[in-house]
Amino acid sequence: MRIVITGGAGFIGSHLTDRLLQDGHQVVVIDNFVTGSRSNLQQHSGNPNLFIVEHNITKPIFLAEKIDRIFHLASPASPIDYQKLPIQTLKVGALGTHNLLGMAKAHKARILLASTSEVYGDPEMHPQKETYWGNVNPVGPRGCYDESKRFAEALMVAYRDYHQVDVRIIRIFNTYGPRMRLNDGRVVPAFISQALKGEPITIFGNGSQTRSFCFVSDLVDGMIKVMACEYKDPINLGNPSEISIRQFAEEILKLSGSKNSLIERPLPKDDPRRRRPDISLACSLFPWEPKIGLAEGLKKTIDWARGVIA
Ligand code: UDP
Repeated sequence: MRIVITGGAGFIGSHLTDRLLQDGHQVVVIDNFVTGSRSNLQQHSGNPNLFIVEHNITKPIFLAEKIDRIFHLASPASPIDYQKLPIQTLKVGALGTHNLLGMAKAHKARILLASTSEVYGDPEMHPQKETYWGNVNPVGPRGCYDESKRFAEALMVAYRDYHQVDVRIIRIFNTYGPRMRLNDGRVVPAFISQALKGEPITIFGNGSQTRSFCFVSDLVDGMIKVMACEYKDPINLGNPSEISIRQFAEEILKLSGSKNSLIERPLPKDDPRRRRPDISLACSLFPWEPKIGLAEGLKKTIDWARGVIA
């Protein structure tokens, strides 16, 4: 198949590109390299099945050759990035998704939107099921990202129901692995770089807030299965094993062999207190469950980060 991936030079997008090329598909990566990087795809240089188009998909784009599938991942995704780029973030979710839906309609292509657990905001339902409507502050620091993705989901459903576009929607929970930007501010690259550089580990608040971390290969596997299934409403993808941020810091210190101290920093406004996906819907639709445990995934990520920092 010929498959478009917007944001294909980003962290998750580049792992998805690896997998689709390995499965024998042609991949067209569309990226404007705001948060993505060409170096994430350098392992495919010279591969005739990969086409890289530098383009900001908030502007229309017309591809002449037939497209079969579209994975729409493009967006700043770390809190620091989207707070630095709030308008671009809102535009890529709104105008970008609109342009991609136009492409899907013209090519009769199936399109998958990478939405997010952030649509649940600071959740009052725990763990979060797809049926939960969320608790989002539209005008808080996370509003630009949360509402961008919520709008994108609404647009997907409108095109599904009005134009019969073949849509898939996934809500991605915290995902980690090699190729995250070490300075993107997210907790995994932040703690790992601090541990490896001998700096104190910055815990925001008292560290009692929780997250559930999924290794990127498990997520990519789930994405491929969602694209192949027939379900057209949102599906959670993530790893349901939940850990407090303080325990997470201790785990990283242990695995990296570091003896650094932990220091507390103010908790950012609207930081969700807990997050854990209910993945029973995905598991009922197709055979899938995350296979890589936290220790194994963190070891792989720490080894990779050592190479980048050295
Ligand atoms: N966090 C932290 N120290 C850091 C970076 C993040 O304690 O240096 C916390 C943050 O407050 C949040 C959690 O780690 O509770 C996950 O943050 P991240 O930015 O990775 O993404 P989020 O899940 O909040 O979107």
